[in-house]
Amino acid sequence: MTETRLRFPPSPTGYLHIGGARTALFNWLYAKKTGGKLILRIEDTDTERSTQESIQGILDGLEWLGIDWDEGPYFQTEFSADHLAAANRMLTEGHAYKCFCSKEDLDARKEAAMAAKQVVGYDGTCRHLSPQQVADNEAAGMPFVIRFKVPERSGMFGYDDKVLGRIEQNYKEIEDFVIVRSNSKPLYLLCNVVDDIRDRITHILRGQDHMTNTLRQVLLYEALNAALPVFAHMPLTLDLKKAKISKRSHGEIVAVQFYKEHGFIPWALSNFLVLLGWSSGTDKEFFSREELIEAFTLERINKSNSIFNYRKGDEKFFTDPKAIAINEHYLRTMDINEIGDMVQKVLEKENLWDAAYAGEKKQWYLQTLDLIRDRFHTLNDFATLGRAYFADDFAVEEKPLAKNLLKFPELQQWLPELAGRYQTLAQFTSEETERVAKELAEEKGVKPGIIVNGMRTVVTGQLAGPSMYDILMTLGRDKVVQRLRDVDKFFQ
Ligand code: GLU
Repeated sequence: MTETRLRFPPSPTGYLHIGGARTALFNWLYAKKTGGKLILRIEDTDTERSTQESIQGILDGLEWLGIDWDEGPYFQTEFSADHLAAANRMLTEGHAYKCFCSKEDLDARKEAAMAAKQVVGYDGTCRHLSPQQVADNEAAGMPFVIRFKVPERSGMFGYDDKVLGRIEQNYKEIEDFVIVRSNSKPLYLLCNVVDDIRDRITHILRGQDHMTNTLRQVLLYEALNAALPVFAHMPLTLDLKKAKISKRSHGEIVAVQFYKEHGFIPWALSNFLVLLGWSSGTDKEFFSREELIEAFTLERINKSNSIFNYRKGDEKFFTDPKAIAINEHYLRTMDINEIGDMVQKVLEKENLWDAAYAGEKKQWYLQTLDLIRDRFHTLNDFATLGRAYFADDFAVEEKPLAKNLLKFPELQQWLPELAGRYQTLAQFTSEETERVAKELAEEKGVKPGIIVNGMRTVVTGQLAGPSMYDILMTLGRDKVVQRLRDVDKFFQ
């Protein structure tokens, strides 16, 4: 059995977007599944649009997602000699020819063909130049491109796509395409194939938007006398209006970085992206890394396009609700130590981190995260909705402030009174604090909820959350008493 060799070859002309990340994931999964290798190749031949910043962004994004590779990164520009050698070999062997047609000539002929309702494409003028004519043109210093000579055959050719089945096209429908520009720069179609042959790539998994390239490349493989790799084309990701998702129309939401900044768990994003183009054939939605490697097959990649379910300006969801639901799942079920490490980064960024959380207060830290994570959607929520657990300067949300505190002016007296009783409690336990709160409510002739909701508001700033008495135990007597006493500030 030959080793499977896959590649992820991004063009570094922008950030890593979720479509690219999904492609990387699929290749990575298949490499892992088959015990093969993943090669990272940076396709930087478009020197005008490629940037160092983009390369760094791609590497950072892959690292954050946990996608590792076995070889590379290789940089395509370092292999220009190979690309030109392949073009020259095709010239020598009659699979390519020099074309001296100027842009003006081409445009004029194209217009004429269009007017006559004929097929528009290169008309093959230079295909039939004699060696003498070619030599004369070159001696005259005429610029030329190198074109691939599409075989003069009738009928169809193609390849067997692992996802879509047999894909074919008629030879006649393919024009003699350019493989080297007049400035001697080889084009993507050629470079990509030459590199894949050199890197001994056995499987190419990429988006369906590359299918027109694939047909041309199949011809290049033949001309270069190389075996075809297995092709598997993945569905595109469209928005609700069936348009391709892009930065221009959707903004940063398509960037992997966006999810990192919004407190996504990397594996949750990966899990979501994989389901956006592959299905296990069961209802199972959450897969660990190992489960996914086990379950993944090329045959189960979806044929039809996937929908990224996001409405611009949606106030409730900042991205596809499914992505958020998957993130919530991992946030609430992952090992608390792992959550602890991820939340540490968030707290550090917000200056809420205390070194003791990794030392003597570690147990408190992990228990607190475990207590509050059930209602959170992202890692960032620990620093925003959960700020009261890590700092005293937390905001009180408007809704509980109005509904649970200001609506009951008596709480301005009652909560400090409760503080006094908590201060002197022999044992500050959840049972005792609950008993005392209920006692106070009874004395005042109100439902315990009035006291408890008021207390929750000043102690956490939130409308809802975990059990009130668990919260009190987590925060400890001093903080609770202080916050209950400070209730005055809200009534001014
Ligand atoms: N550089 C190409 C891209 O980013 C590679 C496509 C491919 O062959 O997979 O679209």
